[in-house]
Amino acid sequence: MSSPVEKTNLLGLPKARLEAFFESLGEKRFRATQVLQWIHQRGADDFDLMTNMSKSLRDKLKEVAEIRGPEVIYDETSKDGTRKWVMRMDQGNSIETVLIPDGQRGTLCVSSQIGCSLDCTFCSTGKRGFNRNLTSAEIIGQVWVARKAFMPFEPGPERPITNVVMMGMGEPLLNFDNVVDAMNLMMEDLAYGISKRRVTLSTSGVVPGIDKLGEVTDVSLAISLHAPNDELRNQLVPINKKYPIAELLAATKRYMARLPDKRKVTIEYTVIEGMNDKPEHARELTQLLRDIPCKINLIPFNPFPESDFKRPKLSATRRFQTILNEAGYVSTIRTTRGDDIDAACGQLVGQFEDRTRRSQRYIPVHQMTP
Ligand code: SAH
Ligand code: SF4
Repeated sequence: MSSPVEKTNLLGLPKARLEAFFESLGEKRFRATQVLQWIHQRGADDFDLMTNMSKSLRDKLKEVAEIRGPEVIYDETSKDGTRKWVMRMDQGNSIETVLIPDGQRGTLCVSSQIGCSLDCTFCSTGKRGFNRNLTSAEIIGQVWVARKAFMPFEPGPERPITNVVMMGMGEPLLNFDNVVDAMNLMMEDLAYGISKRRVTLSTSGVVPGIDKLGEVTDVSLAISLHAPNDELRNQLVPINKKYPIAELLAATKRYMARLPDKRKVTIEYTVIEGMNDKPEHARELTQLLRDIPCKINLIPFNPFPESDFKRPKLSATRRFQTILNEAGYVSTIRTTRGDDIDAACGQLVGQFEDRTRRSQRYIPVHQMTP
């Protein structure tokens, strides 16, 4: 018996790859334009809806291709308007996507991996271990699902998703090709048309990935720094032992220098009580970043059950911010959004099988015997 043909999921193909797909079928490249609009702008997942293509082409497509988005298993809106989706990616694995509305802006926080292999000590995603990379269809599928939730709508100033940040679960630079394909679809005018300035990749510091990224795209960059020196950063972000701060900041400068326009890198700094929240840390940070055009985003640590760390006092975070501001930096304190539905930074976990067994090695504090 012949095995069924594996169908190509067109959801994850950016324009160039979709054109190549149609060429491989002996069809014209412009079909890609039509299909992109059907899938991403009109939310279609059924070829029969695509009435500007002949019935015979639609039938041919049905045989070899599909449009398969993630299955939504949870969709809840928080008191403050933050909306969270849990999406099942395959048997046993689910991930989380969050939409944060803020006036005219809607920022979608997208996941790139099921779990994360990097194990930052303050991050609940990391603590749960890692299962696998998401495909480009699974990454853009999160944007597709979120946009479909607001259909029908007319594109315009009220667009529900104006910004995308790759700040959900996972380290995007460790899933490079799929993340780049998905980001290209986010920026594609025939798909979501989001400006490159409003698509942000956040990394914990995979230095070779930053350089590689600069060769293929010009999205905005966020660096998860969290500490002003290597000694402290080694404790919080283990990948720092491989790529220390000096190398990370040098790669950041190279990336920013390649951008065709003037933009600032976002420095993310999760503020943890008693760890990295002291005035001397803020002063050290002002020195460290003095020749990097940046804005600094202070994220008060969001506690989760398996962590010993504590949320910082607001007064300590404000004092930290004042030191940065007085040194001439633009810095903001990120307000915690959606914590009543566990949608805040670092609270995204989904459900998945941990292939690293890290989650088994890790004993939650409240389960430790004294
Ligand atoms: N892996 C990438 C992107 C995902 S994490 C990265 O690390 O940049 C997105 C942001 O949430 C990072 O800046 C991360 O440090 C922050 N974060 C993780 N856990 C957190 C927590 N418990 N409280 C507050 N921020 C957290
Ligand atoms: Fe992974 Fe980012 Fe969490 Fe670190 S902070 S464990 S890199 S998701």
